[in-house]
Amino acid sequence: MDRLRSSAYGKLNLMLDITGRREDGYHTLETVMQTVSLRDTVEIRFKKGGGIVLRCDLPYVPSDSRNIAWKAADAFLKAAGLTRSMEIDIRKTIPVGGGMGGGSTDAAAVLRMLNRMFGFPLTLEQLDAVALTLGADVPFCLRRGTYLAEGVGEVLTEAPAMTDCQIVLCKPRVSVSSKSAFGLYDEYEPKTHPDARAMLDALASGDLDRIAASLGNSFEPPIAAANPEIAAVRSRLLELGALNATMTGSGSVVFGLYGDASAAHRAKDILRQAGWRAYCVHPVGSGR
Ligand code: ATP
Repeated sequence: MDRLRSSAYGKLNLMLDITGRREDGYHTLETVMQTVSLRDTVEIRFKKGGGIVLRCDLPYVPSDSRNIAWKAADAFLKAAGLTRSMEIDIRKTIPVGGGMGGGSTDAAAVLRMLNRMFGFPLTLEQLDAVALTLGADVPFCLRRGTYLAEGVGEVLTEAPAMTDCQIVLCKPRVSVSSKSAFGLYDEYEPKTHPDARAMLDALASGDLDRIAASLGNSFEPPIAAANPEIAAVRSRLLELGALNATMTGSGSVVFGLYGDASAAHRAKDILRQAGWRAYCVHPVGSGR
């Protein structure tokens, strides 16, 4: 096989609690992550000579060795002791800098695809180890589905599957880098601590109202305070019938849960008319 194309799905943090800070400065967290149907497309073609060449359809995303998908290909070849030239084409739909793990999922797609294209030279454990060197969210993106992540995001436990529903997600014009998000969080009081256990119990019950009531993100109060547009998008989702809404990751994407498909599509249309990028998506289950 010398050519393969794959979908790379984005994620949402159903809840995210910053639990502390390690001596090395990294924040520790508890978060329940959910794969959703919004996806990039990644295509790999082996070729003769030229090393790893990457193209991305968004001009503001780097297409050289700074792209995390490029790094994934390089790390895979080194871990498997292989050399091969290839072209990687990425078509982005997942908003960049939105807290949806767009880069991480592209990297995971490259790892999964290369392992298949080379006839599975790496075990799942070895693939996980390579994934973790690329970023804390990459091992989750290899798995997909619903997972509790602890530590700095790398300790994964499978959680009860998310109840099927409609999710409207909206990208405010502002983007938030993870670095500035941690800075804003550290300075802000009072801190909030969404409850991971409550979310896991709600997922186990399958009750969408309980899942909605357990949404939350420690980053949201400080980041929404600094970026009123984020608070405005959340209010709009609630006015438009969301059971509840919160921000994903370190922002800036905000999402709302809906039990009713027509209300969700109407909300997405109204947000688009107001000039925002908005999508109606659904949860995607485990794919390993
Ligand atoms: P996370 O939720 O993991 O914090 P994010 O969704 O906020 O991530 P990304 O969209 O993954 O953020 O990308 C953030 C930065 O990474 C951008 O500055 C972008 O230029 C760079 N980047 C490198 N490779 C990629 C890629 N394949 N796709 C998107 N961004 C990439």
